[in-house]
Amino acid sequence: MKKEKISTIFTYLKKTYQYAKNNKKYLFFFLIGSIILCIINVMVPLLSARQILYLTDEIWEQFFWITIAIFGTEILRNIVANMNNYFINKYFYAVKKNIQLEVASRTLQIQTGVLQANSSGTFIERAGNDTDTLANIFIQGIDYITYLLSVIGVLFSILFLNVAIFFLYLTFVLFLFFAQKYAAKKIQEKNKIRKKKQDAASGFISELVRGARDIKTLNAEKSFLYKTDEVIEELGKASYDWTRTRSWFRFLNGNLRDLLDLGILLLGIYFITHNELEVATMLIILSYRGQILSISSNLESFYDILKQFELAASRVFEIIEGEQYPKESFGNRHVSKIEGHISFENVFFGYEQDAMVLKDVSFKIRPNETVSFVGKSGSGKSTIFNLIAALYKPTKGQILFDGIPLQDLDRESIRGNLSVISQNPYIFNMSIRENLQIIKEDVTEEEMVEACKMACLHDFILTLKDGYDTIVGEGGVTLSGGQRQRLAIARALIQKTEIILFDEATSALDNETQYEIQKSIQNMQGEYTILIIAHRLSTVINSDRLILIDDGKVMAEGTHQELLNTNPIYQKLYELELKDERKK
Ligand code: ADP
Repeated sequence: MKKEKISTIFTYLKKTYQYAKNNKKYLFFFLIGSIILCIINVMVPLLSARQILYLTDEIWEQFFWITIAIFGTEILRNIVANMNNYFINKYFYAVKKNIQLEVASRTLQIQTGVLQANSSGTFIERAGNDTDTLANIFIQGIDYITYLLSVIGVLFSILFLNVAIFFLYLTFVLFLFFAQKYAAKKIQEKNKIRKKKQDAASGFISELVRGARDIKTLNAEKSFLYKTDEVIEELGKASYDWTRTRSWFRFLNGNLRDLLDLGILLLGIYFITHNELEVATMLIILSYRGQILSISSNLESFYDILKQFELAASRVFEIIEGEQYPKESFGNRHVSKIEGHISFENVFFGYEQDAMVLKDVSFKIRPNETVSFVGKSGSGKSTIFNLIAALYKPTKGQILFDGIPLQDLDRESIRGNLSVISQNPYIFNMSIRENLQIIKEDVTEEEMVEACKMACLHDFILTLKDGYDTIVGEGGVTLSGGQRQRLAIARALIQKTEIILFDEATSALDNETQYEIQKSIQNMQGEYTILIIAHRLSTVINSDRLILIDDGKVMAEGTHQELLNTNPIYQKLYELELKDERKK
């Protein structure tokens, strides 16, 4: 292995150790256990050879004691192996949890645009399989080192028994050492490809599950299954390629081992027939044979383990600290309670550098105002919300909260002071109560009921069999769109943030749901700074002010009546709305 490679692996080991050090006592116990096992491995063949000698020489008393000793050693081996198993388990799950939590928390810090540009499989695989490999590495390392120690012990014993056989073994071990290095490199290349395909397959399957409802209603099962077939087929091919390369090297290995085995037997027979080796000594050498021969598969797996560790660690640390997955950055200024002034000053923004979506947007919002953004679909309204929530940063210009540039504020000052109620809010697969508790751990029953009453959801919850303890399914599938939005309103009310960003649903909600959502917004009006992406007349009329956006620019500001009197774009928009409302 090249020097840089070794140093890379070493750096990864050091980084991984940060997550393992709190559980190092288990590693230590495991090490002690492994050393005991290693001594037993060297001793048992020596004892067994003696036992056979006593048997053939018919020395019964000695034979009895040595049999008892072997039995005792074997029992000890079982006990130690069993305890080691316990230590490994304790250690493995604790360390895996540490790494997984870190990956999860770092994933949440990744910039929204970067998260969206990657398949979910990229993150699922790294938080899952790859963390397994990392949590395992020190266990495997100890396993391997103690194994090496026992092989060295065995080789030394053989050196004292017969020098020629010792050299034969040594040549074999050295030869394998270099052969395995080559093999591991080849296997690693294939494994890298396999992992990429695995990411893609996981991401696809997760999308298939999450999108199952739409796939069914779009009647797209066939084409999705066809695509699934393709993705899995590709993974299968890459995996086959990887395993075939491994088994090909194993095959060569196996043949080499058999050749060595034959060589030792022939050499042994030669020495015995020339009276240069005793049968008893040959017996000992033969009992060690298994351990020495197993070095080929152990060497192979050691290189494989190191390579697999390197790959998994590079993938995991890419998420934790890598530049490929840049994290959101915030300023240092902390404001615990924002008053509610929001200003956009000549803001330009594009999701891609050369396609500006917002072009020189400026406006001011005062505390406790209710302002609706109106405009055609695709004009940039949600983008404005994304920038206020600091999910993206302006390309040019700046956004201020209470006169402080957003880039100076810390994470808590921004996210802790605003809540977003999106068109299709994500409700977690927990009970309604837990969905609210996840926002505020110590929320009281009264707070919860009050928030749900304000969100016009309480009466509905009472009709459910389990009330607040009803589980709502993944993404809240057992709730209607309107109910999901009202639950999101309740979440915002529990958060009690000054700023509420509300993206009104465009989909046709029934009149009653519409009325209830409208009522819940009215319940909040005047107490919070509410920004609404409005699609409905009733909302527009009830707002203090409207901001009309067209093609990424602010075209006009004013009350509904003012805009209606003066602005032709708004007049047209209003007519279309009116037509829509009449249709319902
Ligand atoms: P509105 O909310 O007014 O319907 P949006 O702000 O959602 O409009 O979209 C404005 C423009 O930005 C559209 O052309 C849309 O295609 C584009 N856009 C929105 N979100 C993204 C995104 N995540 N990546 C790239 N382009 C986007």
